[in-house]
Amino acid sequence: MLTLINNAEVFAPQRLGRRDLLIADRRVAAVAEKISLHGDPVEVVDAAGKWLLPGFVDALTHPCGGGGEGGFGNRTGELDAADFVRAGVTAPVGALGTDSLARSLEVLYGKVMELRGRGLSAFMLCGSYRLPPVTLTGDVARDLMFIEPLIGAGEIAIADHRSSQPTAAELRRLAADIHLGGTLSGKRGTVLLHVGDGDGGLGLLEAAPRDSDLPRRLFYPTHVNRNGKLLEQALDHVRRGGFADITVATTPEFIEQGEVSPLRALRHAVEADTPAERLTLSSDAGGSLPLYRDGNLVGLQQASPAVLLDLFQAAMREDPDLVDAVIAGLTRNPADAYGLTKKGRVAPGCDADLLLIDPASGDLTDVFGGGRRLMRDGSLEI
Ligand code: ZN
Repeated sequence: MLTLINNAEVFAPQRLGRRDLLIADRRVAAVAEKISLHGDPVEVVDAAGKWLLPGFVDALTHPCGGGGEGGFGNRTGELDAADFVRAGVTAPVGALGTDSLARSLEVLYGKVMELRGRGLSAFMLCGSYRLPPVTLTGDVARDLMFIEPLIGAGEIAIADHRSSQPTAAELRRLAADIHLGGTLSGKRGTVLLHVGDGDGGLGLLEAAPRDSDLPRRLFYPTHVNRNGKLLEQALDHVRRGGFADITVATTPEFIEQGEVSPLRALRHAVEADTPAERLTLSSDAGGSLPLYRDGNLVGLQQASPAVLLDLFQAAMREDPDLVDAVIAGLTRNPADAYGLTKKGRVAPGCDADLLLIDPASGDLTDVFGGGRRLMRDGSLEI
């Protein structure tokens, strides 16, 4: 069955203008001003007046839940495929996070495969906050080689009181193993670094590749909008060829304590001439948003993938000149950070992970995951 989407304003993520798009065999088969088909059975979708975007690639999620800081009572729950689809996320990358003791990579793998079974292109990372990293096969390079949905390690914690207080040499060895496994398996291989609010900031990231042959892009720090100083360090990393990830889930308390809101961080980056194509926006969905005062845990909320669609809508309303950078930060840029070449863009040969959005309301109306309808006219079909 072919699907023809007519007359959409296409963001590839760059603006292409009004286009028709043909889906065949789970992929985008053609994008053109006019596509005419004769004879083949085809479902036609009238997208006049709508925006067509790549599905969001969410660089950091915790689909099995996260947290547990402050005790078992604070563990956060699992996410459902519907949570991602409603937010426009078609390619979530799952990670363990703080807890690799009462949670496991085996459970995460099962969750990732469940999400795949329900139409999403889910991926996963080995490791957790701790070093040495937890793995499925006993070795991070073997994990990359033999576990198809596994595309890197993370989130490995640095500059955080919950980290293993790793050394640069430990981080360098981990990155070297990921790089080797990635090279042998044809994956990029990426080390996602959870950066806490410790004084060290990105110091370890700068030290790890020094005196090595490892490319800077292996190291992908997240939560870099945690404070202004860390953001400046991250923008410097991006200017020198790295990728960095801005966390979209936040709370008024975090902002009060110095966190830079995602739109402010993005605006600052653009104005500071940072290559915005290496800045990404992730939800941290499923993870806990712990609130510490004077070192004591005083509150906890759970992040949702919905923050990504909220951010897109906020940009449309309040910062229209940032909309293109937001779309790229939610789609092509994180796909590039992980080397997912068929994700995060609208082009012939790419996976048909597509969103239709009503630009007047900002509402997501339709979602395609690998060509399969996951949402139709605002109603879920999973
Ligand atoms: Zn984190």
